[in-house]
Order: sequence, then C-alpha cells, then structure tokens
Amino acid sequence: MKLLRYGAPGTEKPGLLDAAGRVRDLSAVIADIGGDALRPEGIAALQKLDPESLPLVDGTPQEDLRLGACVGNIGKYICIGLNYADHAEEAGMPIPEEPIIFNKWTSAVCGPNDPIQVPRGSVKTDWEVELGVVIGKPGVYIDEANAMDHVAGFCVINDVSERDFQLNRAGTWDKGKGCDTFGPTGPWLVTKDEVADMDALEMWLDVDGERMQSGSTATLIFRIPHIVSYCSQFMSLQSGDVISTGTPPGVGMGQKPPRYLHGGETVTLGISGLGEQKSRVQKAL
Ligand code: ZN
Repeated sequence: MKLLRYGAPGTEKPGLLDAAGRVRDLSAVIADIGGDALRPEGIAALQKLDPESLPLVDGTPQEDLRLGACVGNIGKYICIGLNYADHAEEAGMPIPEEPIIFNKWTSAVCGPNDPIQVPRGSVKTDWEVELGVVIGKPGVYIDEANAMDHVAGFCVINDVSERDFQLNRAGTWDKGKGCDTFGPTGPWLVTKDEVADMDALEMWLDVDGERMQSGSTATLIFRIPHIVSYCSQFMSLQSGDVISTGTPPGVGMGQKPPRYLHGGETVTLGISGLGEQKSRVQKAL
C-alpha cells in the first residue's frame, strides 16, 4: 500500500495510490497519514479497504496534484550519519563504531516536489538521497529481533545539508540539517509488506540530469533493525516518527572539486519501489 498526503501546504488530506496510479481520498477514514493511523492495527484496517470504493481525487500526483510529505505531524525526525562506508570515506571521516544520531527539525519537512530553499548565508548546500523508515508501533528498548514489528513502512528522503553550517559553525551537526525545506519526504509511504528486500534497494540522485549518487542499501554499515533498536535505547519511538538511515557516496562535498547548490538547479532522486522526488532549488527570500 502506498499512502500519501495531497493538497496545499498545511492542509494536506490523507490518500492512497490505487493500482492505476491515481489518488484515492482517505479523509472519511482517517484524519491524517501519521500518528495512531500508522500503528499495526491502523495499517491493517486500511489494507482491508477496497481502493475502488474510495473517492477518486482529480489530478495526477506529482504533476498537477501536489503531494505533501508522506507522513503528517512527524514527532521526531532522526537521522543516522555516515552509515555507508564509502560515504564516510569521501567525507574524510572514520567509519563509526556505533550509529551516529543527529536531528532534523520537523519544520524542515516538505513535499517531494516542493522547492528546496538555499538558506541565507549558505555557501555549501548539499544533497543526500536516503531511505526513510517510518515507525508504526511505539516502543522503547526494542530488541533487534522484534524491531521490524515497529516499522510501518519506508519512504524516499533527501537529507538536504548545509556543510558549512553543519561542520564549521560550532556544536552538533544540527544547524546544517534542519533549515526550512531541508527535509523533502515522500512521495509515498510504502508499507513494509510491499518492500520485498529492504537490504537491496537501489538509490540514486541527479543534479540537472547528471548522476551524482548511485548506491544500494546493501552497503549500509548498520542495517534497519539495528538502527531502530539502537535509537530506542536513547528515546522512545512513537508512531509517525521518521528515521533517515544515511546516504551513499556522491554528495556534493565529495565531488572533485566539491559542488554545491546555489539556486536554479533541479534535483531528482529515487529509491527502487519507493518513488521519486523532483525539486527545484531556489534562494530563500
Ligand atoms: Zn544524511
């Protein structure tokens, strides 16, 4: 099942993608794609619905029908740093001995085709295609063996990053990770039953049609069950929390010479089976 949120920013409605690629409205069934609706019993109830029985929404998603982030009211947006060995190498940083956790402010979250804004004072705005994990069943101190019971599904994320803010402005990485529009999330939340092998998902990112990142979750250092279990040792995980699991090589910082976004570019990215994003880059006002 592919769950999505459609409509104008701030007033998105819940929907699902039917077999023909059209949007079916879920407003009469659930308030939003998020929170309790993503618990296992909530997902099971949605899976019992016949999509044909739901109202058809006008327009083609990602063309003339805007999609918001595929999860609404995200409580926590947790990111894992340096989770691909070859990306750690291009960043000139050691392979971590345990997962690096940092935070993306939820005000950064935006739709998969919304403009990415280069923040004021930015000189190093960069891209990172990542697999997003959406929590369904809440929990704390989750065993790795049970971790997937807590996952509702997966989505595409661009962990947009300002490297100068991240690395040179003192303190943690968070200053460079949570600027407005730095969290395009979607197009859809793909429930885990539709993802045959989460350890073999191809991922890619292009800037103005030129391939920059190409990788696979096969080369993750810390795999999804470990990440979910690990995060839950430090915080309880809630329904609708999102964990972005790290990026493969090919970020702008790793290009020779480095290449960054300044405005005017088009960034396209995707993960096999999870859909694609296409964002115009513009300067923040
Ligand atoms: Zn990242």
